[in-house]
Amino acid sequence: MRLFHSQTEIRQFVSNQRYRDVKIGLIPTMGALHEGHLSLVKMSVEAGDLPVASVFVNPTQFNNPEDLEKYPRNLDQDLKMLESAGCQAVFAPSVEEMYPFVPDLTINFGSLETELEGKFREGHFKGVGLVVSKLFNIVQPDHAYFGQKDLQQYYIIQKLIQQLSFPIQLRMAPIMREAHGLAMSSRNERLSESDRNEAALIYQSLQEAQKELLKSTSDISAVKQRIHELFKTSDRLTLEYFEVISTDDFKPLKKIKNKATTALCIAAEIGQVRLIDNLLLIS
Ligand code: AMP
Repeated sequence: MRLFHSQTEIRQFVSNQRYRDVKIGLIPTMGALHEGHLSLVKMSVEAGDLPVASVFVNPTQFNNPEDLEKYPRNLDQDLKMLESAGCQAVFAPSVEEMYPFVPDLTINFGSLETELEGKFREGHFKGVGLVVSKLFNIVQPDHAYFGQKDLQQYYIIQKLIQQLSFPIQLRMAPIMREAHGLAMSSRNERLSESDRNEAALIYQSLQEAQKELLKSTSDISAVKQRIHELFKTSDRLTLEYFEVISTDDFKPLKKIKNKATTALCIAAEIGQVRLIDNLLLIS
């Protein structure tokens, strides 16, 4: 596995590989890797790509400087894990390499960036849109792999690809979960064993809501009320939001119109750790 820190070198590497008529798969990450991230690399390997991962903690997607500073960084460990998953090249630039000047370009994603996560993390998706556009231009992949775990981010990238005409096929990787159902996340490391067990309620509540919503008599407001009540039974978990949304615009639905584009999204906090999860209604 090759490691590159400069844009010029990774570009050169990828263009040399193209002579071998190979498809390039890009897996953007912020490091602090776990099995969830590796599942994206494995998808790329299975698709027959030459998988290229990026490891970059992107400052423009953090609206809280303390969060950015505290974000776990362990490149050596990440490299070992990436290699074991079959990754063939890693692009791990410094902040100066990615942003030699302060970027002032902004991309507007409409309601996709203002609903749900957008409300809690102002400017987050603009930062994601900018860094992913840069990565697409630097690596020029054929396929790009993103996790369902960050569902809203996936649809931001889909819009980016469609509206800026990137010649890239976007692929969604399913959510990898711990044994009791908690979605894997770099933030889980900050949870005690008992908090992790308690946090299993997040996935359980999604499953319960999904079951209800698939009934012909389902009523979204009753389901939402039930989920809020369920969280009141936990003295450590605080529900931030539970919404049934359309993946077209991420606006909360009052009534399900199209099951195929309906998703259940949740965010909750435990011990000052914010966790998100989701289920597609038909999954
Ligand atoms: P991050 O490093 O948090 O920016 O995540 C990098 C990629 O890994 C994103 O596309 C995430 O959606 C994906 N990812 C994170 N956690 C999981 C998980 N538990 N299962 C599958 N993919 C994940």
